[in-house]
Amino acid sequence: MVGPTERLGVLGGTFDPPHIGHLVAGVNALAELSLDRVLLVVANRPWQKVGERSISPAMTRLEMVREAVAGIDGLEASDEEIIRGGDTYTIDTIDRLAASDRSLTLIVGTDAAAGLDTWHRWRELAELVDVAVVDRPGADARVPSAFHATRVEIPLLDVSSSAIRERVRDGRPIAGLVPEPVRSVIERELLYLRAG
Ligand code: ATP
Ligand code: MG
Repeated sequence: MVGPTERLGVLGGTFDPPHIGHLVAGVNALAELSLDRVLLVVANRPWQKVGERSISPAMTRLEMVREAVAGIDGLEASDEEIIRGGDTYTIDTIDRLAASDRSLTLIVGTDAAAGLDTWHRWRELAELVDVAVVDRPGADARVPSAFHATRVEIPLLDVSSSAIRERVRDGRPIAGLVPEPVRSVIERELLYLRAG
């Protein structure tokens, strides 16, 4: 038996919008864990967020993620969950990506890591992936014990999609917090101008 030939990282999110926190998380997991590539998987319908606020169209979020990773070696946008449609469950994506010649590392910030045992079919998920936990302000690096987890240290970046949406709504600048082409899409599509 030979070992896995590909080491794949999976960084899922709503990416509404993608920002430097996502990119720094992805490139550091890539480097630190010697992954071959990291997929930024855009959620179609993030079921834990639906109802809380209106979410930008999936294709627009995908376009922003494509722009965000352009030119960053090893980071790729994935439309897998959008093509599948419906509510998004990470386990379905992991099931699809699982292969005997591939190892899967789920990359999450500390806030998401703490809630991994609320995810759909989380026990199966814990069997199929290693977890890479990247530092994020405001949450301890605590991971439910069923998961095999490694910590990846990154500079603490106090940036979130929610804060960026709020800044746009308030007319404050977001340059530097998101890649320039992402900012252009936000402007062109008039995203985040209204509350909710
Ligand atoms: P929102 O504020 O809308 O929840 P977000 O900034 O948290 O958006 P998500 O799409 O919810 O972004 O997050 C996707 C993944 O990226 C999660 O695992 C999250 O923990 C991680 N992440 C987001 N921002 C950061 C950051 N600044 N540092 C480290 N990890 C982050
Ligand atoms: Mg979040």
